[in-house]
Amino acid sequence: MSQSVLTFLNARVWQNGRFTQPGPFSVVDGKIAGHHARYSEGMEGVCIDLEGGYIIPGITDIHTHADFTASDARSRDYALRQGVTRQVSGLCGFHPVYDSSIPKEDYIRYTGFLGDIAMLDTDWHRFFNRLNAGGPVTRYQLFGLNSFLYSFPLDSDEVIETRIDQVLEQYNVLEGEADPSRCFHGFSLSLNYHPVKSLPAERLYRFMNGLLCKMPVCCSYHVRDQKDKILESIQEVMAWHEGTGARCHISHLKFGGASHEGQFPARYEVLKNWQQESAFPLSWDTYVCLCVKHHYFVFPNH
Ligand SMILES: [Zn+2]
Ligand SMILES: [Zn+2]
Repeated sequence: MSQSVLTFLNARVWQNGRFTQPGPFSVVDGKIAGHHARYSEGMEGVCIDLEGGYIIPGITDIHTHADFTASDARSRDYALRQGVTRQVSGLCGFHPVYDSSIPKEDYIRYTGFLGDIAMLDTDWHRFFNRLNAGGPVTRYQLFGLNSFLYSFPLDSDEVIETRIDQVLEQYNVLEGEADPSRCFHGFSLSLNYHPVKSLPAERLYRFMNGLLCKMPVCCSYHVRDQKDKILESIQEVMAWHEGTGARCHISHLKFGGASHEGQFPARYEVLKNWQQESAFPLSWDTYVCLCVKHHYFVFPNH
């Protein structure tokens, strides 16, 4: 098999926390293979002069709804232009797959704000076949519990166990699949969107705790309130993880609104203490920069 060999000149490379200028290096079949002291005629393969341009590892974007736009090559191209080579999709409780008992028009109305309807499907195998078909950006899919509960409502306490089993059946639909881009990587849930928003707290607790006991994988949360009740909102979802060992991840965490003014450092300390003391992994991601007037706070850089 013939190898693809590229040699890069005049690159700045991200190494050990800073940019260095290491001199020419070769990339063989996509992997850095050799480093040369200086440029010489007759170096292997194609030489590309980056003229001081930057080389960084591919970025993983952990919050995209790329599962809704995966059929459009522009979404891949936009990601690549930003240096993104991996995307976590299926966020905020939504995924494009719905049950065939649901009219498509209803599901379009429910998820329409997330973008394209071309990825909507009633079959997980077909969905996964298309999710990464465009390459080279790889999507890692979460199972959206809001979408599931839209198709299979949690409308009484009696159905809790049945619903948990149905989630697991769908979650394991690609069981045995070795390719990590063709299986689920956890759950996502938004407490701020239907149908979860209006569920009784006790029923939601029993459903989520029961599910995470049986399948202790990461769950990524869009919490109920990011304003003055933010810590209570985080406690609500943390309670579901007790005794499970499943990672509790707070998605797009922000301390937004006037109620946090002057309170942010103390509230953030509380959160960090919970992270230290909790029996299960607790993590969060934040917007890179939140600067809307002075009511939003940029997180300390550590
Ligand atoms: Zn969200
Ligand atoms: Zn989202």
